[in-house]
Amino acid sequence: MKKNMIAGNWKMNMLRHEARELTENIISGVADVEHDLDILLAPPFTALDIVGGLIEGTRLKLSSQNVFWEDRGAFTGEISPAMLLDAGCEWAIIGHSERRGILGETDAIVKKKLNASLADSLKVIVCVGETLEEREQEKTIKIVQSQVKSALTDLELNDYSEFVLAYEPVWAIGTGKNATPEQAEQVHSAIREITGSIFGQESELIRIIYGGSVKPDNIKELLEMENIDGALIGGAGLNADSFVKIVKIAGE
Ligand code: PEP
Repeated sequence: MKKNMIAGNWKMNMLRHEARELTENIISGVADVEHDLDILLAPPFTALDIVGGLIEGTRLKLSSQNVFWEDRGAFTGEISPAMLLDAGCEWAIIGHSERRGILGETDAIVKKKLNASLADSLKVIVCVGETLEEREQEKTIKIVQSQVKSALTDLELNDYSEFVLAYEPVWAIGTGKNATPEQAEQVHSAIREITGSIFGQESELIRIIYGGSVKPDNIKELLEMENIDGALIGGAGLNADSFVKIVKIAGE
């Protein structure tokens, strides 16, 4: 059975005391959600231990926002899959558009991070998505399919539930402009075609989640789409009330 996933990407926000308060409020807010969803928190590296400690024994899971592709060595400032697992992470977000756009992460880099993570049994959320310019030039499907194909090339997946794709149109991230459910579904079904053509029927278990200005008032209609299996939440995840509302709606 495929579970929906709701993941909060805190980006470069939350000092440790703020992370503590937000996590405590989220834990109590989701305590009565019975539905079997995957709920992830992705705090900055500096708050992984605080958040990880607080969510231990709860249904919440810890994710990093990034990872490096080597296990150890002279890579100043980088953090390996083994270190993230050691810090309590079960998941890593890879290839977020802010990393692609601001830090120059290419498909090739994303692929290395993805392979290294899965080799160490760190589960991954790989982000893909087009810019506004690419959408206006009607290149959305081509761009997203090529990002997905690059990630999937020669990929061996033992467990399809450990690999999640996040479709995040760059023009919808942090802008308040979400893709309509129909726009998102069009891209999700194009992604599903590729996963199906590479891995066959079983790859239905790969979750494709949507990200880009998801809020309590648009999550329901997004999740009603056939190929939308959850959401990656930025801004709305920094507020316990809105994150908990999203989780509750997703759990209905
Ligand atoms: C994100 O950072 O992945 C994101 C979707 O941000 P927001 O929800 O703020 O658009």
